[in-house]
Amino acid sequence: MPILPEPVQNLINAFERLPGVGPKSASRLTFFLLRAPEDASKNLADALNALQSSIAFCERCFNITMAGNQFCEICSSEERDESQVCVVEEPLDVLALERTGGFNGHYHVLHGALSPIEGIGPDDLKIKPLVERVRGGAIKELIVATNPSMEGDATALYIKQQLKPFSVRLTRLARGLPVGGDLEYADQNTLLRALAGRQELD
Ligand SMILES: [Zn+2]
Repeated sequence: MPILPEPVQNLINAFERLPGVGPKSASRLTFFLLRAPEDASKNLADALNALQSSIAFCERCFNITMAGNQFCEICSSEERDESQVCVVEEPLDVLALERTGGFNGHYHVLHGALSPIEGIGPDDLKIKPLVERVRGGAIKELIVATNPSMEGDATALYIKQQLKPFSVRLTRLARGLPVGGDLEYADQNTLLRALAGRQELD
């Protein structure tokens, strides 16, 4: 088998490390860029560089924010209710919930869900900082809005165990969201209903 020039192979390898991209798609993307007009590669490279240099994570809720900001817009806002915190898996879930306009509290982004199969344990997620936030005492209700999946449920249960010593109210979004689906893909009305119909987590 002929050996590909190193830069080509490097890019294929880089694409392969992305979630959902197999060897075939990685090669296809690489050769697409190789043939595409020069600015297609340049735009992609610029966007990737900007991702690293201009984006950071909020130090309180771990949502994405512009680099240089300690806290995200939501954590910085005085109009938001600090006593209610919605716990989600990904920054995109924050976006989905914000789009409903039905939630005026704060968030906590875990950056994933527990998954023994994928080797994701509690220390890989922002669970400890969540416990610390609850320990701070300002939070009265945690709405656990992890995805309605096995991993999401396991994560919710784990959070419940970790928060046993505290007198915070724990709720879970109502059923009705498509099981196994991602929060970010749920439509606004379904999400609003799930939020309004949230139940004690048990
Ligand atoms: Zn924040």
